[in-house]
Amino acid sequence: MIAPAQNLVIVGSGLAAWTVVRELRKLDAHTSITLVTRDNGDLYSKPMLSNALSSGKTAAQLVSTTSAAMAEQHGVKLMAHTEVTAIDPVACTISTSQGTVAYSRLVLALGADAVRLPLQGDAADRVLSVNDLQDYAAFRERLQGARRVTVIGAGLIGCEFANDLVAAGYEVDVVDPGTQPLGRLLPPEAGDLLQRALSDAGVRFHWGSSVQAVHAQPGDLQLELANGQRLGTDVVLSAVGLRPRTALAQAAGLQTAQGIVVNRQLQTSQPDIYALGDVAEVEGRSLPYVMPLMQAARTLAAHLAGQAACLRYPAMPVVVKTPALPVVVSPPASGVAGQWQIETSTDGVDARFVGHDGTLLGFALAGQATTNKTALQKSLPALLA
Ligand SMILES: Cc1cc2nc3c(=O)[nH]c(=O)nc-3n(C[C@H](O)[C@H](O)[C@H](O)COP(=O)(O)OP(=O)(O)OC[C@H]3O[C@@H](n4cnc5c(N)ncnc54)[C@H](O)[C@@H]3O)c2cc1C
Repeated sequence: MIAPAQNLVIVGSGLAAWTVVRELRKLDAHTSITLVTRDNGDLYSKPMLSNALSSGKTAAQLVSTTSAAMAEQHGVKLMAHTEVTAIDPVACTISTSQGTVAYSRLVLALGADAVRLPLQGDAADRVLSVNDLQDYAAFRERLQGARRVTVIGAGLIGCEFANDLVAAGYEVDVVDPGTQPLGRLLPPEAGDLLQRALSDAGVRFHWGSSVQAVHAQPGDLQLELANGQRLGTDVVLSAVGLRPRTALAQAAGLQTAQGIVVNRQLQTSQPDIYALGDVAEVEGRSLPYVMPLMQAARTLAAHLAGQAACLRYPAMPVVVKTPALPVVVSPPASGVAGQWQIETSTDGVDARFVGHDGTLLGFALAGQATTNKTALQKSLPALLA
């Protein structure tokens, strides 16, 4: 247990940062909290970015509470539009675009960057990715007058955008080097069903290839694929993964791996500096989803309020937002031994990953079989007990 901080500084204003604020204020009304963020700090639900188009939502309509209202409600000093450029763990200060800020405890809720593919061509810089509200606003602007959209990547975010775009009336092509949608999350039987549902909705898949170059031509763009195919399109959206923003921590000498390495009190290798959300890695796990960051925020708030706290992850299935075919996945831990047991029907796939002793270790449910989620979730072991 620790004594409450005199001056807590939180960097970031995504779901991780604001959830820590909210949870901490339930336990501690007095600690001074400064929140430093390079965006405007408004609270929004990031998962809505990939299903907001078809319901016609603008970026402004996705804001649930403005940063000013959040700051007032929770007694937070807000430094919006302020970039943190360095951390000095010895002096306990951060350097920002608005000057130096001292902390007694620092929380890094920096999120992750969209991975950019090294593309050739004179229009490579016109490839978009949507990872925050500003990106979403820019994406909507680019869609004005557009008819065809190409999505690079058929993972979770790529499939969600493809479904949303096609539902919003666009012609959608998806290019992916793999052989099925959600290749890392679904066994082939469930992948096939999702592909059929999205294809029936109008999505055209291009498997076994990747985009190599983007060329401007009068009126639209031309994509050059590695297999020699050419695709005309108006807008290109890249959804090929996220990379935790570890650079600041690395430069400050904090331990990083895939993310910023933290213990189960969310402490980095510098005990007064904490990390959570998409930027953090706990016992080898980077889980870039909402449920894990909520668990982490509650644990961190309790720890910062001086309570004994230890992060636990229950099983946390992820609902894929593809209305063309509902999908829920709870992937087995990587490298764990076992096999898929799969039941298929015309309207669903129930795939269970079981260990050699018959224990349920994960599942992938599609279509009608998603109704089994609650029952199966109860049988899954905790991710972090
Ligand atoms: C399109 C999309 C759909 C998704 N759908 C789902 C879903 O259905 N279910 C689910 O569980 N998860 C989903 N996710 C993932 C989920 O949204 C994220 O795990 C979560 O929002 C991450 O929150 P965060 O606070 O860690 O990071 P972010 O929201 O990225 O916040 C990072 C913050 O740090 C600030 N920042 C970064 N660097 C600096 C700096 N140097 N100085 C100052 N400020 C800085 C940024 O401005 C930002 O405010 C989705 C993600 C995306 C992109």
